[in-house]
Amino acid sequence: MIQRVSKGSADDSRLDAVRERVEQFSYAAARRALLAWFKSHGRRFPWRDDPSPYRVWISEIMLQQTTTQTVSGYFERFLARFPDPSALAAASEEEVLALWEGLGYYRRARALREAAIVMTRRFDGRVPGRYDDVLSLPGVGRYCAGAILSFGYDKRAPILEANTTRLHARLVALGVEPTTSAAQKLLWQTAENWLPGETPRRKKGVYREINGALTDLGRLVCQPTAPKCDECPLARFCAAYGLGVQDALPVQKEKQAPIQRTDVAFWISRGDLKTSRVPSLPGVPESPTDVLIMRRPPWALWAGLWDFPRLEVVDPRFQQKEDWRFDPELADRLSLFLETEVGAPADSYRPGAALKVFRHSVTRYRVTLSLCRLENADPALAPSAAPSLFDVLPATDPPLASPPENLAPSPDAERLKNKPLALEWLWVPISELKNRPLSSTGRKIARFIENWRYEGRR
Ligand code: SF4
Repeated sequence: MIQRVSKGSADDSRLDAVRERVEQFSYAAARRALLAWFKSHGRRFPWRDDPSPYRVWISEIMLQQTTTQTVSGYFERFLARFPDPSALAAASEEEVLALWEGLGYYRRARALREAAIVMTRRFDGRVPGRYDDVLSLPGVGRYCAGAILSFGYDKRAPILEANTTRLHARLVALGVEPTTSAAQKLLWQTAENWLPGETPRRKKGVYREINGALTDLGRLVCQPTAPKCDECPLARFCAAYGLGVQDALPVQKEKQAPIQRTDVAFWISRGDLKTSRVPSLPGVPESPTDVLIMRRPPWALWAGLWDFPRLEVVDPRFQQKEDWRFDPELADRLSLFLETEVGAPADSYRPGAALKVFRHSVTRYRVTLSLCRLENADPALAPSAAPSLFDVLPATDPPLASPPENLAPSPDAERLKNKPLALEWLWVPISELKNRPLSSTGRKIARFIENWRYEGRR
C-alpha cells in the first residue's frame, strides 16, 4: 500500500535533517577558510573603506534593490550634501528626493529623512548602536539593523539578504523554500552561528569581516546559477556540493506572472506664452513651452515626486489603444478625466493619438504608457499661485464624479476615493523639468519633451 506523504510532513523531515547539519557544521574551521579568502578577494567600497555607522546606514538603504555599481555614483554625492543625520534631517523632502532620483523605490529616501529626524530628536543626532533602537528607525528591518551594527559598529549581529540566504541554503542543503518561516528561523540561526562569541580577546573587526566575507562569497562565487564550486573556499564544508545538488538550490518559489498595466499621461502646454523660456538654440524655433506638472500625494505611487497628469486604464477593452480619436467612448472618458482632475473643459480638450508610447518594467509590473499632448491650454487650468487644484474643485466630490468603470484610478481605488490626484500643480518651463525630482516614467517623458523641442518640433 502506498503511503501518501503531505508536503508539510515532507518539509518537516527535510528541516530536521537540515537542523542536524546546522548543528554539526564546523563553523570555526569554515570561518578561517572564509576569512583567508576574503583577504585577497573581498570587494572594496567607499562605505567599507570608511565604515562609520552613518555611512553604513546610508549605503545599506541605497543598496536595497539596487546594485553596488549604481549606488557608487549616488553615495558620495549624497554624503557630500548630507554629511550627518542633522544635515539630512534639516533638508526638505523634495531636496532629498532630487538627490535620490534615478535610484528608484523612493520610499527609501523618505524613510532616510524621517529616520534622520528621529536620530536628531532621540539619539543626539547619531545612528543608534543598540539593536532595538536601530530596528525602531523608519526603513530599517532585521537585515538592515544587523548590517548597521556589524559593519558600522563591529557588533555581533547576523545578517541575511539575497546573497547570504543563497549561500547558507546551499551550505546546509536546505531542501525547502527559504522564505518559509521555519526556513527563515534556521537560516538566521546559521547566520548567527558564523559569528564567534563576544569575548574581550576577540579580533577587532571580526564581525564586520565575517558578514562582509559571507556577502561577497555569495555574490562572487556562490552565484544564483552555475556556482563556482571549484573556486570556493567552503567547498569542503558545503552540504549541497557534497550531495551534488548545488544547482537545484535554493528551492525556488513558483514564479508569479507579470502584471500588465496601461497608463495614459498628458503633456499639457500653455497657449498664452508668446516667447520661449527655453534658452534659445540655433535653428530651434521658439514656441510656447510651459508644461503642467503635479506633485504626487503621499497616498499615491511615487509619493512626493513630480509627474505629468496621468491615469490608469483598467478596462481591458481600452488597453493597448494609442489613438483615442477612433474610440469615442474612450476619448469621452479621457476628456472626463481631464475635466474632473485637471479642470480642462471637456468640450475644449479632446485627446487625439498618442505622441509616444513608452514601455517600462518595474518589479512585477509591465507598464505601457501612452503620452498624449494638449496644446494651447488655458493657463488658468492650474495657476502657479494655487497650491492645489482641489482648492477650487469641490473636494467632497469623488475625483471621478460618476466613476467610469474603465478609468478606475488604480487597483486600490477604495483607498484613493475622495483623494486628490495631486498635492500641488505647477506650470514650469521645459528647461526646469531637469531640476525637479520626477518619477522614472515622468523622467522618460521629460527627456522626450526636451528632445522633441531640440529636434525643432513644436
Ligand atoms: S561549494 Fe558551491 S554551492 Fe557550496 S557554497 Fe561554495 S559555491 Fe556555493
